[in-house]
Amino acid sequence: MGSSSTISSFSLVGCRGLALVFVGVLFSLLPLRAIEVPGSPAKSGAGGSWSITLQPVGLINGSPVVFRVTPPERLKSLSGKWLEHEVFFSADPQGKVWYGIAGASLETRPGKYPLELKGVSASGKDLSFEKPIAVGKGKYHSIAASVPKQYTEPNPEQLQKISQDKAIKQQAFSHVTPEREWTGSFHAPVKAEISDVFGTSRTFNGKTQSVHEGLDYAVSEGTPVAALNSGTVLLAQQLFFEGNCVVLDHGQGLLTLYMHLSKIEVKEGEHVTGGQKIGVSGGTGRATGPHLHVAVRWEGVYLNPATLLSLQLP
Ligand SMILES: [Zn+2]
Repeated sequence: MGSSSTISSFSLVGCRGLALVFVGVLFSLLPLRAIEVPGSPAKSGAGGSWSITLQPVGLINGSPVVFRVTPPERLKSLSGKWLEHEVFFSADPQGKVWYGIAGASLETRPGKYPLELKGVSASGKDLSFEKPIAVGKGKYHSIAASVPKQYTEPNPEQLQKISQDKAIKQQAFSHVTPEREWTGSFHAPVKAEISDVFGTSRTFNGKTQSVHEGLDYAVSEGTPVAALNSGTVLLAQQLFFEGNCVVLDHGQGLLTLYMHLSKIEVKEGEHVTGGQKIGVSGGTGRATGPHLHVAVRWEGVYLNPATLLSLQLP
């Protein structure tokens, strides 16, 4: 967790200006779809067997994950714990299969981390099960900067705005809706080329200056931006760094963020469906030009939006 402060201190700030000079791309591989997670035999005391599958099959640091759990018997409730986070589960309409979303932060070291499940059966009996989940090492870009990032000195009014924004974001981000609002697969917010991937770190003299915690789409101003999935608008405001920013709450602790919009077309508290237009792209806030920065946040952890978009979900 050594570099977590560096990463979290840049939370929510979209793509920075190109005030720095890139001297070279040290490493440039897309995050790998890594090793398969070995199944583990059921060791439930209940006699029946648990079945747990996950997407993506090969899990790496920075990746979201959807757990699909079939308990040995019908449950009234199911909760989980993984990587010191609570995992919320929701049953499918038939009540047999449970789905929960989670993620491994970029700082998660390769290893096996137990998913601890606790359920209550229809008759009120407690059931528990544990399965080790392997997390592999993702390969992310690192860009060397020859000069540290230059920031314009904010004036007192701007500093006040920045500090107000911080409180607004903290409040929004402390919000967790256990119930699942997302449904089916997640879809790209725009049809456009990706101009910067998730997890790119910018280093100066070998020290990480910032990590790109989202996915950038190369879109000109005025492009309609769609919600990745169904959810509730948690924040729809103009912020200093992020510009016009929308945050959607998809339930189970999962949020998606859309930044630098020229126009916001939803209101806080409003329910949106996947694919619904929430605004129009732009270059507001701290951005060198128009583009869309999309981020995925789960219980305080930024995850790779591209991986989330690649999952085939029910
Ligand atoms: Zn960005």
